[in-house]
Amino acid sequence: MPSPQRFAALQQIQRRRPMTTEAPESLEALWGRDVFSLTVMKEALPGRVFKSVQRTIKEGGKLDLSMANAVAEAMKAWATARGALYYAHVFYPLTNSTAEKHDGFIVPKADGQAIATFTGKLLVQGEPDGSSFPNGGIRSTFEARGYTAWDITSPAYLMHTPNGVTLCIPTVFVSWTGEALDKKTPLLRSNGAVNRQAQRLLQLLGNNEVAPVNSSCGAEQEYFLVDSAFVALRPDLLLSGRTIFGKPPAKGQQFDDHYFGAIPERVQVFMQDVERQLYRLGVPAKTRHNEVAPGQFEIAPFHEAANVATDHQQLTMTVLRNTARKHGFTCLLHEKPFAGINGSGKHVNWSIGNATQGNLLDPGSTPHQNLQFLLFCGAVIRGVHRFGPLLRSVVATAGNDHRLGANEAPPAIISVYLGSQLEDVFNQIRVGEITGSSDGGVMQLGVDTLPEFAKDPGDRNRTSPFAFTGNRFEFRAVGSGQSVAGPLVALNTIMADSLQWITDQLEAELQRGQSLELGAFAVLRQVMEQHGAVVFGGDGYATSWHEQAVQERGLENLRSSADALPVLRREAVRTLFEQQGVLSAVELESRYEVYAEQYCLAIEVEARLALQMARTLVYPAAVRYLSELGGALQEQQAMGLHPNLAVRNQLGDLLNQLNNHCDALETGLAEPPHGSEAHMRHCADQLMPLLLELRQAVDGLEAVVDDTLWPLPSYQEMLFMR
Ligand code: ADP
Ligand code: MG
Repeated sequence: MPSPQRFAALQQIQRRRPMTTEAPESLEALWGRDVFSLTVMKEALPGRVFKSVQRTIKEGGKLDLSMANAVAEAMKAWATARGALYYAHVFYPLTNSTAEKHDGFIVPKADGQAIATFTGKLLVQGEPDGSSFPNGGIRSTFEARGYTAWDITSPAYLMHTPNGVTLCIPTVFVSWTGEALDKKTPLLRSNGAVNRQAQRLLQLLGNNEVAPVNSSCGAEQEYFLVDSAFVALRPDLLLSGRTIFGKPPAKGQQFDDHYFGAIPERVQVFMQDVERQLYRLGVPAKTRHNEVAPGQFEIAPFHEAANVATDHQQLTMTVLRNTARKHGFTCLLHEKPFAGINGSGKHVNWSIGNATQGNLLDPGSTPHQNLQFLLFCGAVIRGVHRFGPLLRSVVATAGNDHRLGANEAPPAIISVYLGSQLEDVFNQIRVGEITGSSDGGVMQLGVDTLPEFAKDPGDRNRTSPFAFTGNRFEFRAVGSGQSVAGPLVALNTIMADSLQWITDQLEAELQRGQSLELGAFAVLRQVMEQHGAVVFGGDGYATSWHEQAVQERGLENLRSSADALPVLRREAVRTLFEQQGVLSAVELESRYEVYAEQYCLAIEVEARLALQMARTLVYPAAVRYLSELGGALQEQQAMGLHPNLAVRNQLGDLLNQLNNHCDALETGLAEPPHGSEAHMRHCADQLMPLLLELRQAVDGLEAVVDDTLWPLPSYQEMLFMR
C-alpha cells in the first residue's frame, strides 16, 4: 500500500483515458499548413521579389531592404489572415533551449483605430536584451544591446496555442559588436566553411558544375514519458529532470520486452498528436517506436539541411514537452532520468552534399564516384582523429556524463566505425603498394578495380560513438536534451579543415606531375598512416578497448565534462575555429565559460535538491517509521518475545549515514572554488561522489521503510504505470 499522496496519484492515473484531439486528417491537409514556405511565397510575392528570395536562400547573401519590405508585407498578410496578432523573433541562446521575443503587429492611430503593421526592418532585425542570456562575459548589462537577425534559410511558421496564433521568425542572435551569442550563427558559418572547402576539392577532382555544398542532419530523439501526477510528487524530476534518488525496480529492462513492442495506447495517442502538430509545422516526422527502457520512446524525422533540421529539432523538443503536458505526461529529455536503466541519446545522422554531386558520403556505384567518396570519407577520419576530444567536448553536459562511459551509451573515447567492408578498403590503402609506381599496385587497388560498395552495410555497431551507416555518419554520443547545433558545428568545421588539407596535398601531388588517382591514393595513405588509429570496429564497451585506445593508440578518454570542456581552450581548437571563420577566439572562450557554468549549476542544483529532499521528505518518513518500529519492538519485549532488531539497527545505521552525507554535501556546496576549471573539478570530484553516497543511503532506506510512509513515487510506479 503506497503512501496517501502516492495513492492519490495512482487513482488519478487509473482514471486517465487516451486523450483524442481533432479528427484525423490527410497528409496533404496537414503538411506545412502553418509554414510560410517557398510555395506560399511564390504565390504571395511579386515574381522579381520571389526570385531574389529564392536566390538568397540557395546561395546565401543579403536580401536588400526593399525586398524585405515586400516579404514582410506578404508574411503579415498571410499570418494575420490566420489569426496572428503577434510575431516573435525566435533564437537559440547557449542554453539548449529556444528563446523568443514577442511583439504585437498593433499600431494605434490618432482616430482611435488600430492597424497591424510589419516592415522589412522589423522582419530583418529585432533587439532583445543581450545581457540576460548566457554570454560568457561578452555582454554586460551596461552594453546590453543584442540583435536578432532573420535567417532567411529557415522558414517562418505559425505557432498555435489555445488562445491565439504567433508568427515565428527564426533568427540569429548576435551582440552589438557582432559576436555570436547563439547556436545558429556558428552553424551557418560552419556550413559556409564546409562549402568553401568541398567546392575546392570537387573542382580539383574535375567536376565542371559544382552547386553549393551543405550539411544534412537527421536527429533521432529518445525520451521518457512519466505520468505528471508522479512528477508532481518528485521535486527532483520537476527541477532537474532526473531522479536523484530511487531504488531500482524488481523488474527493469532485463526482459527486453519493451523495445519495438506494441506502443501503449495512451502513448500512441500522444505521439499522433505530436506528429500532427509537427506536420503542420513542416517537420517531417518519420519514425516512432518504443525504446529499450520501460517508459522510453523515440521519434526521428526525415533528414533535412542541417540548419533547418536544427530549428526543427528544437521545435520537436518544444512540441514533445508541451503536448505531453496536455496528455497528463511529463516528457523527460534528460540523458539519464533513471539510474540503472538506459539513458536517452540523440543520434545525429550527418552528411554533406549538394545538388550536382549528391550526397558526398554516399559510396555510389562507379569507380569515379568511389574515389571522390574515399577522399571525403578520409577527410572525416582525419578530422575525427585530430579533433576527437573536441567532439567529446561538444557533447559534454552534466546529464550526458551519466551516459558516456557508463556501460550502455557509447564510450567517452571517440573512435570511428566504418563497417568491415570500408575498414578493409582503408586498411588496404594504408599498406597500399599503390603509392609505388608499379602498375601492378595500381591494378590491385586502383580506381578501376575498387569494389562496388553494398548500399546497406548490414552490420551495425551500437557501441561506437561515431559510426558510418551506409551514406552518412551517425554521431551517437549526443545527449537527448542537447541542441544538435554544437555537434553539427564541430563536424562541419573539422570536415572543412580536413578537406582543406586534403585539397592542398592533392594539389601538390598534381603539381608534381602525379595522376589524379595516384595522387589521391597517396594523400589517403597519408591520412591512414597518421590518423588510422581512430578507426575501430570492435566492442567500444570492452575494458580492453579502453586500455588499448589510450595506451596503444593515443586516443583520449575524457570521462567527465570537467575533463572534456577545457578542450575548447586548446590552441589547436582555437586555431581550427578561427581559420575556418566559424568562431573567433573571444566567441570560443565565451562558449567555454557558459558551458562550464552550466555544468556546475546543474550539479549544484541537484546537490541542493538532494539535501532538501533527504532532509524534508526522506528523513521524516524514516524517523516516523523508526519510532513506530521501536514501539512495536517494545511491545514484543513486554510480551516476553525476542524481537528481531536487525531492521531497526539497519534503519538507525542508514539514518546516520544520511545525516553525515547531508552534512558533507552542505559543506561541499558552501564554498565553491574560484575559476571555472577548479569549479568544474570540484563538482565532478567532490559533489558528484557525495551525491552518490547520499543516494545509496536514501535508496537503502527506501528498501526498508514502510511503503505507506514513503513519500516519493517509486521507480516501479513511474516506469510501469501509464
Ligand atoms: P536507425 O534507427 O536505423 O539509425 P532511423 O531511421 O531511426 O535509423 O534514423 C536514421 C536517421 O538518419 C533519419 O533521421 C534519417 O532521415 C537520417 N538520414 C538518412 N540519410 C541521411 C543522410 N544522408 N544524411 C543525414 N541524415 C540521414
Ligand atoms: Mg534509431
